[in-house]
Amino acid sequence: MKKLPLYVRIIIGMIAGVLFAVIMLQFANGVQFIRDWIKPFGTIFINLLKLIAVPLILASLIKGISDLKDVTKLSVMGFRTIGFYLFTTVFAVSLGLVVANIIKPGNSISETTRNEMLTTYGGVVEEKQAEAQKQQSGPLKFFEDMVPDNIFAATTSNTRMLQVIFFALFVGISMIMLPETTVKPFKDFFDSANDIILKMIDLIMLAAPFGVFALIASLVSESPSVDLFKALGWYSFSVVIGLFIMLLVFYPALIYLFTKRNPYRFLKQIFPAQLLGFSTSSSAATLPVSMEVTEKNVGVDNEVTSFVLPIGATINMDGTSLYQAVAAIFIAQAFGMDLTLGAQLAIILTATLASIGSAAVPGAGMVMLIIVLAQAGIPEAGLALIFAVDRPLDMLRTTVNVTSDCTIATIIAKQLGKLEPGKHP
Ligand code: ASP
Repeated sequence: MKKLPLYVRIIIGMIAGVLFAVIMLQFANGVQFIRDWIKPFGTIFINLLKLIAVPLILASLIKGISDLKDVTKLSVMGFRTIGFYLFTTVFAVSLGLVVANIIKPGNSISETTRNEMLTTYGGVVEEKQAEAQKQQSGPLKFFEDMVPDNIFAATTSNTRMLQVIFFALFVGISMIMLPETTVKPFKDFFDSANDIILKMIDLIMLAAPFGVFALIASLVSESPSVDLFKALGWYSFSVVIGLFIMLLVFYPALIYLFTKRNPYRFLKQIFPAQLLGFSTSSSAATLPVSMEVTEKNVGVDNEVTSFVLPIGATINMDGTSLYQAVAAIFIAQAFGMDLTLGAQLAIILTATLASIGSAAVPGAGMVMLIIVLAQAGIPEAGLALIFAVDRPLDMLRTTVNVTSDCTIATIIAKQLGKLEPGKHP
């Protein structure tokens, strides 16, 4: 029998996970069983993906940059990457604002529901506030944080990806500036390390359908009641509509405009990465797979993916910024506040910065939302209103984040003549 494509196997894993959880919920200790015997496999799977992230960034970025052989090529790629990332993020926030202003999700929330949620989830807000406070400070903090004072310390935490990227760029650029013979042994080492890491990703992906099964089963068994979804129906609907416009209209249009390729074929090529973004809610954990599908399926050269994707996974979060815009408007409306046009325009700026600052891990967008709320003068306690449905929305916004990175990598590859014909499907 011909082996099923990866994305089909992952979808089967997802559906089986939902069914399994629904069946287990009928039994008295079903939730406990899933927590004890199924969830750990999901955690192991995510850990394996994260385990590979730092070595992958180091090896592939050092290899990719030193392959460029020319610093100007790097700066061209760098400026375009940042330019496209900013453009898509600003578009996403603006779309979020438009959708939220049309649907007005906050107006339909009753006072009783509002008060109930404020009491139930009030405690969580304080926790998130404390987390957000840690991240806030001077205007140059972002750049200050990017430069590590110790590379070994930087590589010990997945939250310091930007520091690792900075180091790899620094090493790569220095290599370009030296004669080839001097750097050859070092480069050979990283070329070979890169191949080994790619093999490791292949091996991890064999377990993807099972990992996804475990992740989805535990999410479904722990998800909040349907009533909560109903109360927050219009809010969730607004976020979902915005995210779907990004996924099915905006990125396909960009792909068509800039590469003249069939956009829906492109979406199919990156589908495994989207599914994984959805199941893990983490762009960082999905990075190895985004790189694999963008290279192997779409045909983007490794020189481009190794630069554009790790940076994208860390700073380019369109889904997150769109969600932050909708959430801010929703909370303001729920508290009966009328946001002026000026205040809404300011949200474009803060949500763009907040999404850049969000870590690529589950729930990070919500922590940074506090900063957006604070800047706009919207009560931060409003976070309690949206907490219950955050996880499913996080799954979807991560899918958008991953799609955006892959889209831009493809466009930049096309512009630099580094896009081969797609190999699949
Ligand atoms: N989970 C998202 C990501 O990893 C970030 C967020 O919006 O919470 O891309």
